Amino acid sequence: MNSICLKANAKINLSLDILAKREDGYHEVKMIMQSIALHDDVIIDVIDEGINVLCDKHWVPSGANNIAYKAAKVLMDKYHIKKGLNIKIVKKIPVAAGLAGGSADAAAVIKGINKLFSINLSDEELMQTGKQVGADIPFCIKGGTMLAQGIGEVLSPIKPFSNVHIVLVKPKISVSTAWVYSNLELKKIIKRPDTNLLIEAIGNKDKKYIAENMVNVLETVTIEKYGIIEEIKKELVELGALGSMMSGSGPTVFGIFENYKKAHNAYNAIKGGKWECFITETE
Ligand code: ATP
Repeated sequence: MNSICLKANAKINLSLDILAKREDGYHEVKMIMQSIALHDDVIIDVIDEGINVLCDKHWVPSGANNIAYKAAKVLMDKYHIKKGLNIKIVKKIPVAAGLAGGSADAAAVIKGINKLFSINLSDEELMQTGKQVGADIPFCIKGGTMLAQGIGEVLSPIKPFSNVHIVLVKPKISVSTAWVYSNLELKKIIKRPDTNLLIEAIGNKDKKYIAENMVNVLETVTIEKYGIIEEIKKELVELGALGSMMSGSGPTVFGIFENYKKAHNAYNAIKGGKWECFITETE
């Protein structure tokens, strides 16, 4: 096998809680991660030597600054693979948007290398390598619906919450995850998610409960600076969403819809306007 094409799926958070700041500067999180159908395409070709990363969007770094390069390098070095790779990323996931697009690409590269060179590592072993490159990569390797703890890398599967209709709205701002975490004041958090009740509701496929009770504590930081996020949340509910929330560190907002028709009506009302808009579903 000399070539492979993989889907790199984005994620949303159905809840995001920060429990503590650790001595090493990372935060202790408790969050529900959910893969969605929106994805980048990652095409990998084996070449004689070197690792080249090219993305079709000029604002995404190419070469060694791309997280996909870092993931490839770690795995290739670890298993002493002497060949090289051409990695092409067709970017459809908005960048610096709270949707883990970079981590998704890195996860796809790790899975792709495992197949291309028949290394035959288990998901757990791949996740171990992914963790060295970024905390969200283990989730992106596994996908589905997961409770993520630790710094995001300790994963426990929960019941699937698939085929739920989602509309994503991204205002024309990019938010740095590092900026959000460095401005987070744990003392200021008043409203936290009841993660255990949300997990129970996922088990019961109770979309309404989830949509009405999901909480992302990072909204306290991002919305304070970018009020537009609150506006988008309201707009999605006015357009028929059961509930809406910011994903990750933002600025993308998602709405959960009862059915495709309602999601599509909201998508039609927003698309072509001042915000980027996507209709998708949970995986
Ligand atoms: P997260 O939700 O994990 O914090 P995000 O969706 O907010 O991620 P990304 O889209 O992963 O953010 O991008 C974060 C930064 O990483 C961008 O500013 C970009 O320059 C850089 N980057 C490096 N490689 C990639 C890649 N393959 N795709 C997107 N961004 C990349």
